Amino acid sequence: MTDARQTAAMHATSPESALAALDVTRDGLRSQDAARRLAAHGPNRLPEPPRRNPILRFLGHFHNVLIYVLLASAMVTAALGHWVDTGVILAVVLVNALIGFLQEGRAEQAMAALRKMLAPNCAVLRDGQRLSIDAADLVPGDIVLIEAGDRVPADLRLIEARGLKAEEAILTGESVPTDKTIAPVPQDAPLGDQSSMLFSGTFIASGTGRGVVTATGGHSQIGRISGMLGSIETLTTPLVAQMDLFARWLSVFILMVAAALLVYGYFVGHLPFREFFMAIVGLSVAAIPEGLPAVLTITLAVGVTAMARRNAIIRRLPAIETLGSVSVICSDKTGTLTRNEMMVVALAPAGHVVKVSGSGYAPHGALRGPDADTAPADQMVLQDFARVAALCNDAMLHPHGDAWHVEGDPMEGALSALAGKITGQGHRSFQDWIRSDAIPFDAAHRYMATLDRDPEGRLWIHVKGAPEAVLNLCADQRIAGHKTEPLDRAYWHAKIEDFASEGQRVIAVATGTAPVTQTGLTHLGLDAHLTLIGLVGLVDPPRPEAIAAVTECHAAGIRVKMITGDHAATARAIGGMIGLRNSARVLTGADLAAMDDAELAEAALATDIFARTSPADKLRLVTALQARGLAVAMTGDGVNDAPALKRADAGIAMGLKGSEAAKEAADLVLADDNFASIAAAVREGRTVYDNIKKVISWTLPTNAGEAMTIIVALFAGMALPITAVQILWVNLITGVTLGLALAFEPSEPGTMRRPPHPRGAPLLTGTLIWQIALISTLISMAVFGMYFYATDRGYPVPLAQTIAMNTLVVLQIFYLFFIRNIYGTSLTWAAAKGTPIVWACVAAVTVAQVAITYLPPFQAILGTQAVPLFDGMLILVIGIAFFALIETEKQMRLAVLPLKPDRHV
Ligand code: ADP
Ligand code: MG
Repeated sequence: MTDARQTAAMHATSPESALAALDVTRDGLRSQDAARRLAAHGPNRLPEPPRRNPILRFLGHFHNVLIYVLLASAMVTAALGHWVDTGVILAVVLVNALIGFLQEGRAEQAMAALRKMLAPNCAVLRDGQRLSIDAADLVPGDIVLIEAGDRVPADLRLIEARGLKAEEAILTGESVPTDKTIAPVPQDAPLGDQSSMLFSGTFIASGTGRGVVTATGGHSQIGRISGMLGSIETLTTPLVAQMDLFARWLSVFILMVAAALLVYGYFVGHLPFREFFMAIVGLSVAAIPEGLPAVLTITLAVGVTAMARRNAIIRRLPAIETLGSVSVICSDKTGTLTRNEMMVVALAPAGHVVKVSGSGYAPHGALRGPDADTAPADQMVLQDFARVAALCNDAMLHPHGDAWHVEGDPMEGALSALAGKITGQGHRSFQDWIRSDAIPFDAAHRYMATLDRDPEGRLWIHVKGAPEAVLNLCADQRIAGHKTEPLDRAYWHAKIEDFASEGQRVIAVATGTAPVTQTGLTHLGLDAHLTLIGLVGLVDPPRPEAIAAVTECHAAGIRVKMITGDHAATARAIGGMIGLRNSARVLTGADLAAMDDAELAEAALATDIFARTSPADKLRLVTALQARGLAVAMTGDGVNDAPALKRADAGIAMGLKGSEAAKEAADLVLADDNFASIAAAVREGRTVYDNIKKVISWTLPTNAGEAMTIIVALFAGMALPITAVQILWVNLITGVTLGLALAFEPSEPGTMRRPPHPRGAPLLTGTLIWQIALISTLISMAVFGMYFYATDRGYPVPLAQTIAMNTLVVLQIFYLFFIRNIYGTSLTWAAAKGTPIVWACVAAVTVAQVAITYLPPFQAILGTQAVPLFDGMLILVIGIAFFALIETEKQMRLAVLPLKPDRHV
């Protein structure tokens, strides 16, 4: 059945023989058969590319200027016979490569976890039921339902196609979508001409269809051609890449300075060559921020993981940075700001209103007319409502214990439930009708139509959709007793406003008959000859957490705008409930169409609610807001939203109801479709940005301080206050450990009460340069001070050096606590309490320092001596004084630079 020749011929046979060859009916496989086939064929996954050999990956970490310098130095010291120095240098090289290797492993794990979270689902028929399953579980013979925006999950032979077009560029290079039909094509047709097939990995540009799976996983065309397609993303962002480059040039610069100093030392130096050479090596190590790129990568990996935990899955890493600078969020309404748990609450046939009650999607409940119970005459009209509700509908209800679940669109689920309430037949209403054609819903036409055959063989048209769209298709309206009267538009418009102003989503339903010979539906064919049955009002309550998140965004200086396809009055009512700033003013797609770009830019800023918009309007709005210098986050779900998502600074796709095409275009996917997750992602984005800044603001000044100490000593012609080997230790072991703590920093308390940082703000700001100057001066003053103090007391040089080195480490620890709160004071209990990770890092460094200071084997290697208790205390006091000084200086700066919200908005 899966013989390669047979599979290859599928495009040339009829749908019926394809089904027969794959041993399946139009109702789909039975689930036992599917399980058996899954065991036989394996999961529908492309083979993963071979992973890089771990040994090669480890060796990769030796490919770096600093390491080359260190290896060369090790050779020089070995040639000079200084085996201890050689050993220390080599150990440091090894540890450094090991840290880099482990960090890279963590980062790769984080990315792999994300890829797993983005695994696609697809809709299949099994046991005659529509189910949504993991695409990896597809087997040959499965019947797959596809619609616009889907990514084709496996190779399919079409058995049904309506207006179907597929974009197959990845296979054929052809970027114009090709028409797909069920008609067989010649046996020798090339892939690009096999219009009866859909191929795994391609996208559905429009239409709907069904196909039977002919090949999965590595047997599909894409699997045979190229193996794994998805490019392996590297863990970097523009900012981190920029710092990486900066670190590289800084290294080159420092090595040049070091070489010049070596020449100087050779001719003018007062120190013996070995000591001088080691000092230069120490200087290079001190000044080059070797740990920086690795720690920044970890910072990103931590951020990616934190966002994923909050249901925001990053697809493109640069988005982490952009999210932090977002100044306006344009959000969908349905499902993002609201729960997308719909329920029909009212029906409006001509002349009166019928209230509908019930709970959730349960297809039974009561209907109540204006007087006690519905009059029997209404029953006829209600049956019409039920017919459209049940038949112009692609969703299915499944009982799930006491509750009912929807498979498909929630609004359609609510309509199925309505049909059940009217007919009393639960979720099986109108099962003996057969659909012969359909026009699927799309956001441009805003209605859906079906052509259905009743058990007596008559053909009916059923339409549901946005009231304006449906009213345009109608000539008259249904009244009690199976009669009709001319359409009273004014009456209906008043009713629509009535329902919508309560926040209800309003749709209209209509019907008509068709000649028995009719086979298809077209938009034109429907025009102006249907009969309006009435309006349906649905509630979709706002998400409480979205209301809180909107408030949070406002406090953070971020505007929230709602862009919906729904009716203006509904949008206004929901906007009010959600707490949008300017909920009185609503612009519709028609209003926007009448504006030129300048007017639009003005209106886009001043308005928070846009209703009856099309995907094209979204694109215009993003562009207009960006033209005003705003960084825009935009949500979307449909295939037509892709351009707006690509254009936005942060394109956000819905993970649950979003199409694969939207996800593909997005930077971020929301696992739960929830607006609150966007706010959480912005918060994390800001935190990552801050942490990148903190890592840099910690690393550069401490490195500069060490370097300055050595340079001053060299020019003064005195012994180094800290030996070169000790500098290696401090830099590569304690430095990286402490710096790493900052990668894990949680958000600072005021993170969402500050305005967004401007897009593309430079990292090396005046403040940072000032900080580098101040901190490095203070550090080298303290180190020299303690060194002179010790020699003054008559301590031997090695002890004075040990005291100086410990001073350096203590200052680094205090500086770490300072950096943790760049926006506020570090003098609160919460700030001092720190986090477990900070304390773990500090504890590790403290233990290591005590060990190298007091344990004889380490003393032998690093040339240290035990520090007397009093001097130990003195070092701590110096640390506290240093902390008090820089904290005071920060408060001075914060006092004259108040960070008011709205400053950038
Ligand atoms: P939203 O921004 O609320 O998601 P949509 O673009 O999905 O809005 O829908 C716009 C309008 O189209 C809705 O207000 C409704 O009247 C109509 N509509 C939505 N879904 C369907 C559907 N499946 N069938 C028919 N009409 C629909
Ligand atoms: Mg929608």
